[in-house]
Amino acid sequence: MKKALLFCSLLISTLLIGQNTYLHCGKLIDTKEGKVLTNKTIIVSGKKIIAIEDGFSSPKSGDDVVIDLKSKTVMPGLIDMHVHIESETNPAAYLQKYTLNEADIAFNAQHFANVTLMSGFTTVRDLGGSGVNVALRNAVNAGKLDGPRIFTSEKSLATTGGHADPTNGAKKELMGDPGPKEGVVNSVEDARKAVRQRYKNGADWIKITATGGVLSVAKSGQNPQFTVEEIRAISDAAKDYGMNVAAHAHGDEGMQRAILGGVKTIEHGTFMSDETMELMKKHDVYLVPTIIAGKTVTENAKIPNYYPQVIVVKALDIGPRMQDMFARAYKKGVGIGFGTDAGVFAHGQNAKEFGYMVEAGMPAIKAIQSATVTNAMLLKMENEIGQLKGGYLADIVATNDDPTEHIDTLNTIVFVMKEGKIYKQ
Ligand SMILES: [Zn+2]
Repeated sequence: MKKALLFCSLLISTLLIGQNTYLHCGKLIDTKEGKVLTNKTIIVSGKKIIAIEDGFSSPKSGDDVVIDLKSKTVMPGLIDMHVHIESETNPAAYLQKYTLNEADIAFNAQHFANVTLMSGFTTVRDLGGSGVNVALRNAVNAGKLDGPRIFTSEKSLATTGGHADPTNGAKKELMGDPGPKEGVVNSVEDARKAVRQRYKNGADWIKITATGGVLSVAKSGQNPQFTVEEIRAISDAAKDYGMNVAAHAHGDEGMQRAILGGVKTIEHGTFMSDETMELMKKHDVYLVPTIIAGKTVTENAKIPNYYPQVIVVKALDIGPRMQDMFARAYKKGVGIGFGTDAGVFAHGQNAKEFGYMVEAGMPAIKAIQSATVTNAMLLKMENEIGQLKGGYLADIVATNDDPTEHIDTLNTIVFVMKEGKIYKQ
């Protein structure tokens, strides 16, 4: 009893004299209500926000720290639902599959994670890599490395010769016959096994490549690559393990199969028809548009020898269409998550996507909401991140200007705090 009392009084005194951080915010974005508030103080204790007060509150203890963000606009840490944290585009990328060791990938990934965090993205969903992504997530969570909070799909699932078949484009002796263990499925049985293997390997989400894609060494960028039954088996197995499914898709038929098969997000969505947009709404499936990826592959395809020729043709066809599709989907009321495909372009440039969304007709505040409250909900983290609110994790970023007036200010994040720790000031 005495011990318990002593413990309690120790705990109370730690809470009282523990160092709190007071952020004096000139402007603060209420992402839930979609409003910009003025003159607020965020009080952070440990990893969490404990209160938001009106005006600029004075610290209660001499140990407390005040951070002056009176000339800044403060908002929750940004969330990107589509990155590839292990890799980054370069003309040697297709050769690197055969030259990089796992350790090289790991050091690269650590660098990309750092760059991502410093650009204001405090949470990302990684949609496919080699397995280094799982180790990186664990190291960041353990506080060993600086990086965003990572939710990862580990290795994407594909069918033989499909967009994420790891031996596409290799000579026959190197092709082998990858199966569920390597993320390649060709039946309902394989589909279940591949999902269970991802769970075993430490995945948080399942990613499938429901149609062809731009950057694989294969002819079609949009053909359907799974049957509905296979996708249904994947979604059901994922659900058993508490995971949701993200479907890469450019072609309309593959998108419809993915939606009917039970996925939660459609990535890219390039050739989405009006009918499919209605289907998205009906099944509560969200579009993650990645407009910046479309713009980047279009630009890179014009540089001689940047991509193999089979990819150049697809990039020039698919890349330029993505922003128009997004404009139509937004107008139709399809749910929009914010995602970029970072890695297809240089990490750290993720926020450029905001400008492209606004250019396509989405109000700035809605684009910011997609990268905060909406993405938090998709990650089932809506009670912890995506808002500045008492009890939420102290993931906080700031810009010089008000992004609801000048969206491009998000490209220059001047303050980054994640779980109460300041990374950039
Ligand atoms: Zn991707």
